[in-house]
Amino acid sequence: KKGKEIPIDVLYEEICHGSRLHLSKAITLLESINETDKSAGQNLLKKLLPKTGRSIRVGITGVPGAGKSTFIESFGLMLAESGHKVAVLAIDPSSTVTGGSILGDKTRMEALARHKNAFIRPSPSSGTLGGVHRKTRETMLLCEAAGYDIILIETVGVGQSETVVRGMVDFFMLLVLTGAGDELQGMKKGIMELADAIIVHKADGDNLKLAKKTVREYRQLLHFLLPATPGWTTTAMPVSSLQNTGLDTVWETITGFRDKLETSGVWHMRRQTQTKDWFHSMIRDRLIDNFFAETGKKQLVADLERQLLTGEITVANAVDRIFAND
Ligand code: GDP
Repeated sequence: KKGKEIPIDVLYEEICHGSRLHLSKAITLLESINETDKSAGQNLLKKLLPKTGRSIRVGITGVPGAGKSTFIESFGLMLAESGHKVAVLAIDPSSTVTGGSILGDKTRMEALARHKNAFIRPSPSSGTLGGVHRKTRETMLLCEAAGYDIILIETVGVGQSETVVRGMVDFFMLLVLTGAGDELQGMKKGIMELADAIIVHKADGDNLKLAKKTVREYRQLLHFLLPATPGWTTTAMPVSSLQNTGLDTVWETITGFRDKLETSGVWHMRRQTQTKDWFHSMIRDRLIDNFFAETGKKQLVADLERQLLTGEITVANAVDRIFAND
């Protein structure tokens, strides 16, 4: 294995010059479970840190079949063609269980993947959501250092991953299909309140009329929801990724959002809050890992759980017992 490793200085230079191969290798270091690789990755990241932060970070969610990958391909190609450098990353909560990944399972976004201005990285295929969160954030920073000025982060519209992605992007959008009433059931409202824009997707052919009606319905509904970003009114718009309609409006909305929020200071404030929150969530992860790594702790918790359920002790008693043992 020795001799094959690329020195940090070389990785640094190559990444600064936009080498996708070296960018990939650096990401692999950060994702590694090998301690030597991991710390090499961290050293590299530290060195690249001054070159990070200069992108627009965009999160994209929607249920499977909403057309996320088709949208990302069309939207990404439009941006790449106009000279932007686009990186596509993913957070896939199912991959933490199955080892699969949304970007890796099928050959998707082939045209975008071949474009010289694009970089596509599948979701890290193992680890807890916290671990995947860290890897995706660090990958995003590396991509920024490599000159990518637009980062698109895809997630499947299930579970906690929306909140995770919302917590690492500037602009968050939700892809929906026609039929706003149904979408509003259950947790959908919660997801809507995270969104800066709602894309009514597949607005083409026979579906166009209904899509436009759905856009109007969403606009009405949005009046009753809290805005996801202070000083910004969440908007709804029709898009077809097959016909490439509405994509320019999406981009205008994102740049309009950035201009407005940079002026108001919310842009900078949100990024600082996100970095702080990330720090705190990593502290919590570390504490929990360390706690359960101690011998006997898992057993103790299991024992106390039993006593708790049979009514022998209270929850507060149980917690006291755990920490009294330290
Ligand atoms: P994902 O699971 O959200 O990533 O969805 P996909 O991108 O795989 O798309 C699911 C299906 O919707 C595919 O059959 C696409 O061809 C189709 N689709 C995606 N975008 C559009 C669109 O703009 N219009 C129409 N009519 N179909 C679309």
